[in-house]
Amino acid sequence: MRRTKILAAAGIATTALLALTACNSGSPNTPAGGDAPEPEVAEDVALEGSPTYDAMVERGGPIIGVKEDQPNLGFLDATTGERSGFDIDIARWIAAELGFSEDDITYEPIASANREQALVNGDIDYYVGTYSITDNRKEQIDFAGPYFVTGQGFLVSADSDMTEVTDVSDFNGMTVCSATGSTPIQNIKDNYPEIATEEYDIYSACVDDLLNGKVDAVTTDAAILIGYAAQYPDELKVLDGLFTEERYGVGIPKGDTALQEFINTLFTDGHDTWQEIFDATLGRSGITVEQPAVDPVG
Ligand code: GLU
Repeated sequence: MRRTKILAAAGIATTALLALTACNSGSPNTPAGGDAPEPEVAEDVALEGSPTYDAMVERGGPIIGVKEDQPNLGFLDATTGERSGFDIDIARWIAAELGFSEDDITYEPIASANREQALVNGDIDYYVGTYSITDNRKEQIDFAGPYFVTGQGFLVSADSDMTEVTDVSDFNGMTVCSATGSTPIQNIKDNYPEIATEEYDIYSACVDDLLNGKVDAVTTDAAILIGYAAQYPDELKVLDGLFTEERYGVGIPKGDTALQEFINTLFTDGHDTWQEIFDATLGRSGITVEQPAVDPVG
C-alpha cells in the first residue's frame, strides 16, 4: 500500500525537485507571489440554490478561510498587511466570479485542525488553504476541485547529511514536526510508530523548532516546504522524495452542490486564469505543474 503510493507520487517528485533547485537560487527571505492581475469582478451573477452564496450577498461579501504563514500559498505580510500566494489568488478569483471585489472580502485565518468545524459552524463561506480532499473530511463538508496536486515531503537542516528519503521510515528514531489535524501528521501517527512527533497548530511553529534544533524535520506537503526553504535558503533544505498524493480542494459547506458546481465550472473553463495565477505565485519558484482535472464529486 505504502509502496504503491510512493510510486504514484514519483512523477510529482521530479517536478518538486526542479522547483527546489530554482527556488534556492532566488533571493533569500522574500516570499514570492501576490502579483496575479486583479480579477475582474463579475456582474449579473447567476447562482441559484446556494444558501452559502445567498448569505454572502446578504452580508455584502464572502468570509474566506485561509492560511497566513505559508509563503507562496497563503501568506500575510505583517508589515504591509498584504496577503499573497496561490491559494489567496484562487480565493480572490472565486470571489470575483461571485461578484465580490477585494474590499468585500473578509479573510479568516484558520488552522488545519479547525477547518471542517469552521465550515460546519458557518463561520466561513469557503476555505482555500492547502486543504487536501479526503473521505474523512467529506463526511462533514464538501470540496470543489481539485485545483492542485502535491505530496508529502520533508524539510531538514541544511547541515543534515540526508539528501533524500527513500521511505518515511528513514526517520525512525527521530522527531518530526507537523500541524495538528493535517494529513501528514496522521500518516506518521498511523503508519510509522517509531517516529516521534511534535505538533503545532501552524507549520511556521514547526519551522522555528527545526531552526532551533528541537526537531529533526518538518513534514507536510512539498509545495508548502519549498516556501519555507526559500525563506531560509542557508539554514533549511527540502529532501528528495515525495510520499502520498495531496489533492487540494476548496472547502465548502456540505450539501451546497450549486456552489460546488459553480467553482468546478470556473476551474474547468478558466484554465488560462489558473495558469496566470500559478505563474505569478507558486510558479515563480520554478515549479511546472499541470492543472489537475476537476472531480465532479470533489
Ligand atoms: N494538505 C494537507 C492537509 O490538508 C497538509 C497541509 C495543511 O495542513 O494544510 O492536511
